[in-house]
Amino acid sequence: MNTDQAFTPEALERFEQPRNYGPLDPWDGHARVTGPCGDTMEFWLRIADRRIAQATFTTDGCGPSRAAGSMATELAIGKLVKEASQIEQNDVLQALDGLPKEWEHCALLAVNTLKAAIRDCQERRRTAQPCGECSKTECSSKQRLANESEQDFLDRQALTQRMCQIGHKLLVMSGKGGVGKSTVSANLAISLALAGKQVGLLDVDIHGPSIPKLLGLEDGHVTMRNGEMVPMEIGDHLKVISIAFFLSSNRDAVIWRGPMKYGFIRQFLKDVAWGPLDYLVIDAPPGTGDEPLSVAQLVGHPAGAILVTTPQDLAIADVRRSVSFCEKVSMPVVGIIENMSGLLCPHCGGQIDLFKTGGGESLAREMGVPLLGRIPIDPQIVTCGDSGTPYIHHFADSPAALAFAKVVERVIASTQVAPTENRSIAN
Ligand code: ADP
Repeated sequence: MNTDQAFTPEALERFEQPRNYGPLDPWDGHARVTGPCGDTMEFWLRIADRRIAQATFTTDGCGPSRAAGSMATELAIGKLVKEASQIEQNDVLQALDGLPKEWEHCALLAVNTLKAAIRDCQERRRTAQPCGECSKTECSSKQRLANESEQDFLDRQALTQRMCQIGHKLLVMSGKGGVGKSTVSANLAISLALAGKQVGLLDVDIHGPSIPKLLGLEDGHVTMRNGEMVPMEIGDHLKVISIAFFLSSNRDAVIWRGPMKYGFIRQFLKDVAWGPLDYLVIDAPPGTGDEPLSVAQLVGHPAGAILVTTPQDLAIADVRRSVSFCEKVSMPVVGIIENMSGLLCPHCGGQIDLFKTGGGESLAREMGVPLLGRIPIDPQIVTCGDSGTPYIHHFADSPAALAFAKVVERVIASTQVAPTENRSIAN
C-alpha cells in the first residue's frame, strides 16, 4: 500500500508507532470487536476516580486501523468515563486530520471497540458482589475477572458485537396485560419496516407470546444456519423471532425461573442472525419482572422503552412503576402511548370514552416523559389481530392507523439512527 500521498502526518506517525499499543494487565474493561472489513480490534481500560486512567489496544488490521485505535486511546485517556463513551467516529477522524474515505471505517471500529470496553467495565462494576474477606466490591470484581472463562468472554463479546449492529433497541412495556402492548409492538415493527427501515421484532413474552398470531406466523419455525438461528422474515425489511416458534403446540405452557429466562433472552439476542438492523422492537410481558430486566441488562446502548397504557386510573398506576423501573435500569423512556383512547361511534361519528381518555397524557406530563400519541379503539384491530393481518397496512386511512402513523413519526424522530449501510457495526 502506498500511503505517502493519501494519509496525513498525524495518521502516518501512528502507522509505525501507535501509542498505547498492547494488552493491559490488570484491567477493568476489555472488548474485542471484528468490523465488517474483517479487522479485529481489542481495547483494555483501567479506570480510576471515574476517569479512564489507561487505555490500550491491539489490532490485526493495517496502518489506518493502528492510527485509529491509537487516536481513540489518546482521546479517551484522562476523560471521565461518561465523556469517553461519547467519543464518536468523527472525533477520531478530526484528531487524525482525516483518513481517506475507504479507511474511515477504521475510526468507527476503534470507537465501537472503545465503547464496548467501557460497557464491559460498567457491567463488571454493576454485577460485582462485595468480597467475603475484605468486603470491598473491587476486590471481588477482580476475582470475577480472574474467574471468567474464555468461553464466557467470547459469549459476551459475541453479544456485544451483535448488539453493535443494531441502531436502536425499543423495549415495549406495559403495566398490565390486555392494554394492546403486543398489538403496538407488531404494528410499530411493520410501520418502521414500511418506512424502509431494517427491523427485527423479538417476542420475549415467554408466558403468552402473541406476535406470531398477530402476524399470521403461527406455523413459523426457526432453522439453524452456521450455528445461528434464522428468524422468520416478512418481506425484505422485517425479521421475527418468538418463543412460540420453539413450542411444539400453542397449548404448551412455559414454566421457567428467572435465570432460565435470562439465558433464553440472551440467546435470542446473541445467536439470532439479525444482521444489521435499524431497529429491534422487543415485546416484553406486562410488568417489571425478569424479562424486561434481562433485556435492559443485555441490549446495551442505544435503547429506550415505549410504555403502552389504556387511559383509566387502574392502568396508569402500573405505568408509574414502569417509568421508575426504567430510571433504575438507566433506560431512557422514548414515550408513552395511550391506547384504546376513546371509541368513534360507527353510526354518528361521536366519541365514546370507554376507558376514559387523557390518562396517558396527564401521566406523561406528571412523569416528564413524552406522550407519543393516543390510539382510539377500532374493532378492526381485533379482527386483524385474530386473522393475523397487519392492521396498519390494511386500514391505513382509519383514525387509529393515522394516530399510529404519528406515533411512529415521533419514535423515528426521537431515535434518529444512522442508515444501516453506514452503520454495520455502529452503536
Ligand atoms: P397485551 O399485549 O397488552 O396483552 P394485546 O396487544 O394482546 O394486549 O391486545 C389485547 C386485545 O386488545 C387484542 O384482542 C387486540 O386486538 C385488542 N386491541 C389492542 N389495541 C386495540 C385498539 N386500539 N382498538 C381495539 N382493540 C384493540
